[in-house]
Amino acid sequence: MVTAASLLWFRHDLRLADNPALNAALARGRGLVPVFIWQPEEEGAWPPGAASRWWLHQSLAALDRELRARGSRLIIRRGPSGDALERLLRETGAKHVFWNRRYEPAVVARDASIKASLSGAGIAVSSFNASLLREPWENTKASGEPYRVFTPFWRALLKRGEFGEPEPAPTRLPSVDRALASIALEDLQLEPRIDWAAGMRSTWSPGEAGAQRRLEDFLSQATQYADMRDRPDRDGVSQLSPHLHFGEIGPRQIWHRVEAVAGNKPGARDAVVEGYLRQLVWRDFAHHLLYYFPQTAEEPLRLEFAEFPWLADAPELRAWQRGRTGYPLVDAGMRQLWHTGWMHNRVRMVVASFLVKHLLITWRQGARWFWDTLVDADLANNTLGWQWTAGCGADAAPYFRIFNPTAQGEKFDPQGGYVRRWVPELARLPAEWIHRPHEAPDEVLQSAGIELGRDYPRPLVDHAVARGRALDALGSLKAPQR
Ligand code: FAD
Repeated sequence: MVTAASLLWFRHDLRLADNPALNAALARGRGLVPVFIWQPEEEGAWPPGAASRWWLHQSLAALDRELRARGSRLIIRRGPSGDALERLLRETGAKHVFWNRRYEPAVVARDASIKASLSGAGIAVSSFNASLLREPWENTKASGEPYRVFTPFWRALLKRGEFGEPEPAPTRLPSVDRALASIALEDLQLEPRIDWAAGMRSTWSPGEAGAQRRLEDFLSQATQYADMRDRPDRDGVSQLSPHLHFGEIGPRQIWHRVEAVAGNKPGARDAVVEGYLRQLVWRDFAHHLLYYFPQTAEEPLRLEFAEFPWLADAPELRAWQRGRTGYPLVDAGMRQLWHTGWMHNRVRMVVASFLVKHLLITWRQGARWFWDTLVDADLANNTLGWQWTAGCGADAAPYFRIFNPTAQGEKFDPQGGYVRRWVPELARLPAEWIHRPHEAPDEVLQSAGIELGRDYPRPLVDHAVARGRALDALGSLKAPQR
């Protein structure tokens, strides 16, 4: 029998630095068996989508490399997770399991049941926070009730003061007995059978080292964040979201690094702290909401939306998914998503608003498509993003805010660089017409080599007509209930 005193169960914390469960397990001073268990069925209605699986494969490979470089290795097993842990406890003689907490409703229930069963069998279970600045229950109103509005949540979180210093990665780890069996990562078949992942491979470096590089790149120009974060044609945002989702980097590490680099430069602090760190707190807010309102992954938070007459089986859904709506900013976003597994936040808001308000297709169908195609698909952030855009969530956009996709394009992609990159058939249109090809004079279209309806679609719906239809439908909803 292998003499290991602790199991470390890796989940959404695929890193070695600032990993409280890892540090606590090491502090026991005994052996350590790092384990990952693949059991997508335990994620309820939201098992990882295709793009997330691709990322997970790369991230697990990177984690195993980091572990091996320190004398350890990753043991991979299939679930059910409780059974897999019990088997490993028997095989290793371990009496203690460590993990970092997750907050999705199905996972919370699964973890509670595993913890009860292990504790009942005399196994010690210790869990920690590796994913959030503050856990959902640490930043409630004085009454203990959850927040539904962001700004008071943000102020309360700031008032609670600093977070502890992030811990560095250990330099050495206890070895894992060679006799302990592990499934080969390839056998989990997380990567697509038909290789559609070339765009993702060329865009991303999954894993802890890739996350750190991405952070440092971002920090070199972070002072421009406030000015550039809404510009999809610029590299103005951090693109850390998939790394954060899989826990290859934690928000406390980012917070400290941002403070250290920008915090002391006059003028920089406000731009970066107010702009960037606020987004990290939106992420905490999303987790707070999902934790206290677990039904919102499926149901609108604002109940009056439950009866909204969404159009069923609308054929326009496919055109939206494929980036063929005839609105260049929407199409560019949907193609960026398909190609890279990521989309700029400003464009996420525009494409989501277009689906829900212009096409009257339920946000649930949009959330599902994002779930399958985003490498950063995250139940808390995705639910918040869709419900916010649809107007049915916490602190949501008012129903009468209907983004005009043409005006949004002209404002945030003024020269059309973003559209030219992702919708190459429009690349030769001058900036003046790039966001409104359907209004361009014939000779402009001709000299750009475009025939509408053949090379690029005409708009699926007319903006003014769609806006009027959405305002009628949304305006007829009953007053908000809480
Ligand atoms: P940055 O601007 O660099 O922000 C840093 C980090 O803050 C992000 O990595 C992210 O973790 C967090 N953050 C930023 N904006 C938000 C936000 N609005 N809500 C919550 N956290 C935020 N984000 C996801 O991580 N996963 C999703 O599945 C997801 N789905 C979305 C769906 C819709 C319809 C919308 C409108 C937004 C969604 N977002 C989602 C939020 C946001 O678009 C992404 O987090 C952001 O674009 C990621 O890019 P970034 O890392 O460069 O962000």
